[in-house]
Amino acid sequence: MGTPAEVSQLLQHNLERLEARITDACQRAGRSRSEVTLVGITKYVDLETTQALHASGLQDLGESRPQALWEKAPSIPTARWHLVGHLQRNKVARTLPLVHLIHSVDSLRLMQALDEEAGKQNRTQDILLELHLTQEATKNGFAEEEWEQLPHHADLCRHLRVVGLMGMAALEGSLDDARSTFARMRELRDRWRSFFSPPHDLRHLSMGMTGDFVEAILEGATHIRIGSALFEGIQHGK
Ligand SMILES: *Cc1c(COP(=O)(O)O)cnc(C)c1O
Repeated sequence: MGTPAEVSQLLQHNLERLEARITDACQRAGRSRSEVTLVGITKYVDLETTQALHASGLQDLGESRPQALWEKAPSIPTARWHLVGHLQRNKVARTLPLVHLIHSVDSLRLMQALDEEAGKQNRTQDILLELHLTQEATKNGFAEEEWEQLPHHADLCRHLRVVGLMGMAALEGSLDDARSTFARMRELRDRWRSFFSPPHDLRHLSMGMTGDFVEAILEGATHIRIGSALFEGIQHGK
């Protein structure tokens, strides 16, 4: 896996290269770099490498498994932690105190469980609603039939703030397919904004990963979730 110094240097190098590509995509899109938050997804690496990444200057870190978040977040409390994968209801209580933004809220039952627990913990939790946008049966997210109920359900959740949408392009699709999926998300966000009343505000779009973040930025992503590109050349230690 290399010495800590080597790992650190590689991370710095990867981060700089990625940063250049993000800046370039923002320029192409006519957007300011400050509109896009890079969330480093650390699921491929151990705590040490995650700490080194944060020390390289990456403020926003994310995990897809709640247990991995529990393991790492208390050791890196100065990072802003994001949960981007499926959250089971029995893991809500332990996850809430650690997390800045939950990207992957994918059912009404989970929304309700989060709202109840946030109330108990006397906090307001920011969440994104994950949409199931492709034909793939394996993906999580609200199915189209459920979309209509979301604004009403959000109004019932007084301890949650819905701040946007999250989605993924089809795994097997082309970059053009990804771009049209992301364009559709932006259209939905724009259209739905007026259906959600304060404190909800659909301003964020979490979309784009290593393979398709440029397309996502061109279509208005405010959060890109990048794992692989950050850890190139580093043997995955998990
Ligand atoms: C792993 C993961 C990512 C990062 O994927 P890469 O292709 O490695 O950049 C983004 N979002 C979610 C939900 C993930 O599980």
